[in-house]
Amino acid sequence: MERKKKCPECGCEKIAQAKLDINAKLYPIDAFFKIMNGSEMSAEVCTKCGYILNMRALSPEKFK
Ligand SMILES: [Zn+2]
Repeated sequence: MERKKKCPECGCEKIAQAKLDINAKLYPIDAFFKIMNGSEMSAEVCTKCGYILNMRALSPEKFK
C-alpha cells in the first residue's frame, strides 16, 4: 500500500524521486577515507514549488 505524498509547502501531490549526483555524497564528519565511506543521497522533490522532502542517505550503515 502506497501512502500518497503531498508537499507541505504548496499541497501539490506530484512528488518526483530524485537522486543526487555522485559527487554530492554525504559523509560522516570524521570519515578518514572519504571516497570509501560516502553515501549517495536520494530525495523527493515537489514538482510545483521545488520543496525537498525526505532527503536520505542510501547507505545509512556507513554512519554507524
Ligand atoms: Zn510544493
